Amino acid sequence: MAELTLPAVAKSFFTLCKKCDADRYHRVLTHTSSTSAKIECEVCHSKKTYTLPKPGVVRKKTSTTGRPAARRNTHADEYNQLMMNRGSEQGLAFSIRTKYSIDQKIDHPKFGAGFVKNVQSDRVDVMFQDEVKTLIHNKQ
Ligand SMILES: [Zn+2]
Repeated sequence: MAELTLPAVAKSFFTLCKKCDADRYHRVLTHTSSTSAKIECEVCHSKKTYTLPKPGVVRKKTSTTGRPAARRNTHADEYNQLMMNRGSEQGLAFSIRTKYSIDQKIDHPKFGAGFVKNVQSDRVDVMFQDEVKTLIHNKQ
């Protein structure tokens, strides 16, 4: 974790103004030490000393309730990645009589471009933009 540093002189930042009894923008007038600065409330113009919280004291607990954002778009991410690499590739027209194999690009009349993810003797899992669909193939 990066160490906290004071906002630069003449920069404004948001902090509590006791006089306004509200969060206000304060302009940094001067640094008085490496951890404190003179600041001025932009609303009531009261001047005060701002001191950086000591490292470790304010460190907020990482929330464990938030759901991991990275997992949510896995399907879309993977599909977009495939389209980025192979979007210009000519897809095979889909037909239940054709036998497909893994990684082939399919051009489905209804679902659009898809990529074969899994193959069984009579069905294929194809990744389309919205979801993976299981389609019948290799039908004699
Ligand atoms: Zn104020």
